Amino acid sequence: MLFTDLGLAEPLLRAVHDQGYDTPTPIQAQAIPQVLKGGDLLAGAQTGTGKTAGFVLPMLQRLSAVPAVKDARGRVRIRCLILTPTRELAAQVEESVRTYGKYLPLTSMVMFGGVGMSPQVDRLRKGVDILVATPGRLLDHHQQRTLDLSHVEIFVLDEADRMLDMGFIHDIKKVLAVLPVKKQSLLFSATFSEEIKNLADKLLNAPALIEVARRNQTAESIAQKIHPVGRERKKDLLAHLIKSGDWHQVLVFTRMKHGANRLTEFLNDQGISAMAIHGNKSQTARTKALADFKTNDLQVLVATDIAARGIDIDQLPHVVNFEMPNVPEDYVHRIGRTGRAGATGEAISLVCLDEEVFVKDIERLIKRSIPREAVPGFEPPTGEKAEPIVLGRMTIGVGGTQRHGGGGRPGGGGGGGRGGPARPGSGGGGGRGGRPASAGGGRPSGGGGGGGGGRPAASRGGPPKR
Ligand code: AMP
Repeated sequence: MLFTDLGLAEPLLRAVHDQGYDTPTPIQAQAIPQVLKGGDLLAGAQTGTGKTAGFVLPMLQRLSAVPAVKDARGRVRIRCLILTPTRELAAQVEESVRTYGKYLPLTSMVMFGGVGMSPQVDRLRKGVDILVATPGRLLDHHQQRTLDLSHVEIFVLDEADRMLDMGFIHDIKKVLAVLPVKKQSLLFSATFSEEIKNLADKLLNAPALIEVARRNQTAESIAQKIHPVGRERKKDLLAHLIKSGDWHQVLVFTRMKHGANRLTEFLNDQGISAMAIHGNKSQTARTKALADFKTNDLQVLVATDIAARGIDIDQLPHVVNFEMPNVPEDYVHRIGRTGRAGATGEAISLVCLDEEVFVKDIERLIKRSIPREAVPGFEPPTGEKAEPIVLGRMTIGVGGTQRHGGGGRPGGGGGGGRGGPARPGSGGGGGRGGRPASAGGGRPSGGGGGGGGGRPAASRGGPPKR
């Protein structure tokens, strides 16, 4: 199958060719013809599968096939709205819109919070066909009547599961309420929980269902390895690996923001250029860190899970789990940053005894054991014992889960997946839900209990502030 077989118009094929792609990825091969037909779509695909081009290409074709809608002063109106959970992802999706739409007379803009409103207002005033936005800022504009969404023909909800994880459900509902009823809607999600299914039921009309690269499966092209390490030796081991391996472009994950900051300082002291990217950083700092990292001016980017969402760097050679995620699905997301779209990559996990419980959950989820290789001189010292890990108000790991401070519920009772207050109707665990049904068949299944397997997800504690 080639891009030329998909029914795409010549200006789009030329833009794809300029990118050096001639073979569509599986999600593109399935999504493009479906979206071109004009119906709604529910797609199970995670970042790294090529899903962005899977909706951007047919969306551009559909928009360019009919004349632009203009207001009384001849300015084009917004005909396509793409919602993403993070600023970084919004920026990257809009970059893809420009990349693939470069031979078409369509205009686009990206809109997110953390930067001034007025340049966005100025840009909106000039008229734009395609808007890529994060929900909060979009609603700000809508409230201030600087935005008109009444002519939207195509609506894309990208990484819907992350949006719900980040608490955007009310914002999404508000956005849906102001969009025209008659439109083409596309929903992309890596996982399918009850909440996603409810949202899909509300949003989509007889959608086509596609699923690629089953969730929770790690790509074969990623070499995974665990280095067991003494609790106090992690930083030294990381610096050793980077220096001895002459690594460049290393994406390092920590669980919490302050851990990211501390590690960044340490690496810089060691002469390794590093920057942290997380929710407390200004948008300018985040954009600069990402730009420097992409151009190889920055050796190491240290990120928390949410901040890393949407980071798209071709052929990222090294991903390091400096701390193992307490939510097993995050492991899959993290290491999906390497070995993307066919490239090979290496995912290294630095695991101290305290984190072995997380490794068990992860291995159960990905249905394989991750090879272990001790680095001489950095192994856990004899006699070191596993200790519980404190995450915000939760203590997790050995000895079970304890919730402390703030008078919360004892010991992880109830459902609620990623912790925090139990979500109504999410049942007794599994929070982030199961997989969608296999390609083309039936409704996505899953939901409660399908996620992590083994212990209820709630027992792994609430999300740290990231
Ligand atoms: P996405 O899943 O949309 O974030 O895309 C992941 C990466 O795959 C991006 O860096 C794209 O540029 C790249 N990509 C998209 N389509 C293709 C393709 N057909 N062949 C190879 N790489 C692709």
